[in-house]
Amino acid sequence: MTENQRTLVTGGSGLVGSAIRDVLVEQGVDLSNWLFLSSKDGDLRESKDVDKIFAEFKPTRVIHLAAMVGGLFHNMSNNLDFFRSNITINDNVLRASYETGVKKVVSCLSTCIFPDKISYPISEEMVHLGPPHDSNFGYSYAKRMIDVQNRAICEKYGLKYTSVIPCNVYGPNDNYHLQKSHVIPGLIHKFYLAKQKNEQAVVMGTGSPLRQFIFSKDLAKLFLWVLDNYDEVDPIILSVDEEDEVSIKAVAELIAKNFGIEQNLIFDTKAADGQYKKTATNKKLRGLYPDFQFTPIEVGIKESVDWFVKNFETARK
Ligand code: NAP
Ligand code: GDP
Repeated sequence: MTENQRTLVTGGSGLVGSAIRDVLVEQGVDLSNWLFLSSKDGDLRESKDVDKIFAEFKPTRVIHLAAMVGGLFHNMSNNLDFFRSNITINDNVLRASYETGVKKVVSCLSTCIFPDKISYPISEEMVHLGPPHDSNFGYSYAKRMIDVQNRAICEKYGLKYTSVIPCNVYGPNDNYHLQKSHVIPGLIHKFYLAKQKNEQAVVMGTGSPLRQFIFSKDLAKLFLWVLDNYDEVDPIILSVDEEDEVSIKAVAELIAKNFGIEQNLIFDTKAADGQYKKTATNKKLRGLYPDFQFTPIEVGIKESVDWFVKNFETARK
């Protein structure tokens, strides 16, 4: 029964939050009992802002997305900020949730928080089995603590707050900042400028690392499914299949093809590659939701490129 629910989406203005809103609109859902927050509604690092939002909206369910988020290069130089911001936001949101009687919270981890030295494919129970990659240890340890806190909340209050573990996400409304973004939005922005200026386009690193990418609209549908159907505290990986893992080089070439600049790519092999791979299995998801259809990466990239070109003036960059 979702009619009597009041659902708060923290980080509602971001890549994933805006995709959730778009999917609900497409499904014809009445959004009067949904609140999509941005940082303009309050700084979730401040407990007084969080308490005010919860007291006013009185959510019964929370999708918790808000976080300090960034790509490899932003993480590498800001581990302290990633750790402190995310630890504080997560503690404020989870504490306010159980204190005000929220029945369900779905928070967001990431496949990049798993141990660096691990056997593949990665599965849900491996989250805490070793140190994360050095490049993003601040973000990773802060995210891992969500799972610790969920288990402690369940032990003390019997509430089944949970978390999902998406692979790399991309899509419309992403952060297209040239230095701070993840690889797909970063390359879309760079290649757009290279095309305009008829210059070479630089891909950072060797191009050999492997990644699984999920289109934001697919992740949004899975988030909503988890909210209504998944009843465990333990996290669940929301990723495309292992066979859909691609190299950074292949992704760069695919994006370049959309701009017609395949011949103009160069690789800055002195730049960091980050983790070589973090191949995750979606076996648990497939077991519970076998017929979910993922958007092929060619389709998702085209939609993202088209969105960026159309919204260049206003896109986050
Ligand atoms: P995003 O596009 O950068 O959006 C971040 C959201 O958090 C925005 O709505 C932002 O508000 C809000 N926010 C950030 N700091 C805040 C603060 N101090 N107070 C209030 N709101 C704040 O991020 P995303 O890619 O949608 O990520 C959503 C979730 O997915 C995050 O938890 C992230 O860790 C996780 N995730 C992302 C990826 C990925 O590849 N992007 C992969 C795995 C997991 P403003 O718009 O007002 O700034
Ligand atoms: P990660 O998946 O957490 O490592 O984060 P990213 O999405 O930032 O980076 C993925 C891979 O893309 C790394 O191997 C980077 O070296 C590579 N990459 C190539 N060009 C870029 C770029 O312009 N921006 C970013 N962020 N990564 C890039």
